[in-house]
Amino acid sequence: MEWYVSMPKIELHAHLNGSIRDSTLLELARDLGEKGAIVFSDVEGVILKNDRSLSEVFKLFDVIHILTTDHKTVTRISKEVIEDFAADNVVYLELRTTPKRNDSKGMSKRSYIEAVLEGIRSVNLVEVDLSHKLNMDTSACAHAMNDVCDGTGSKKIYVRLLLSIDRRETAEAAMETVKLALEMRDLGVVGIDLSGNPAVGEWLTFLPALEFARKQGLPITLHCGEVPNPDEIRAMLDFLPRRIGHACCFGDDESKLLKKLKIPVEICLTSNIRTETIASVDVHHFADLYESNHPLILCTDDAGVFSTSLSAEYMLASSTFGLGKTEMFQLAEKAIEFIFACDEVKRN
Ligand code: 5GP
Repeated sequence: MEWYVSMPKIELHAHLNGSIRDSTLLELARDLGEKGAIVFSDVEGVILKNDRSLSEVFKLFDVIHILTTDHKTVTRISKEVIEDFAADNVVYLELRTTPKRNDSKGMSKRSYIEAVLEGIRSVNLVEVDLSHKLNMDTSACAHAMNDVCDGTGSKKIYVRLLLSIDRRETAEAAMETVKLALEMRDLGVVGIDLSGNPAVGEWLTFLPALEFARKQGLPITLHCGEVPNPDEIRAMLDFLPRRIGHACCFGDDESKLLKKLKIPVEICLTSNIRTETIASVDVHHFADLYESNHPLILCTDDAGVFSTSLSAEYMLASSTFGLGKTEMFQLAEKAIEFIFACDEVKRN
């Protein structure tokens, strides 16, 4: 097994509906096609197309959501996504997803997340830790550590959830998501994400919900700087989120501010290249941030949509930026500092 596959890894930026297997999406599309709900041949091409711009990606998500937004399917994809990350030796996964209401399926934001949790609990190929076990004794912790660190033994994956606010949502809907996250804290929800098409929505719409989340002690990560929008980037950095995702379209002033504030960045190399947010991997801002010793975490974003894996992202960073196995291991290890779960999970 290659070292970047067997190495235990931390994934902090993965969208549930972006991480679905192509085979599952095609199967779901075929089923809906047979029921006459969609035209399979139209959807097949959209699912299998590899090169897509950022705006095309959001059109693809609309198609994916038609295929997946019922309780049974949400449970299925959640189970498969956890199995896939565990098979790639991800030992701690913060999976993010947007709670969705779908009246025609009797789905509320809460029942959507319950379906996700059911899928995570139904994983049986690996041991899953979904919420903090207060009474885990020291020997159990040591055992868990051995399990997760050798890359070959019986596997264990820690999974925590971030609830995403979609930039298409209203201030009220954003607040509803934050309140749901607070209600479900004991069940494995550890934070809030702001995502969705960066060309849609205004930062100020989401600010009250995000401020409320922070007041209640929920950590926040923001998709920031996927398009050039210096005012929004500055407002987001001034908010002092616990992490940001992407940070692609930063000017000199915004870069300086980011480095001064030392806000950890979730880096998604393949996603940024595929969506043409960054021209090519060799000019990616990973290099500058890494050289500046800025906190960063390698992530997949949408392993299904961009046909990648966390191992592939580690291999890409290693080969592009000339980093050896030891440096890559240190990068993976450092990511522990930036997880939203509690200190005991970090120690484990
Ligand atoms: P879901 O939240 O439905 O599980 O995952 C898909 C959603 O995540 C998309 O509809 C979109 O809101 C968000 N998302 C996935 N990838 C990206 C990305 O690269 N950039 C942004 N801004 N949002 C994304």
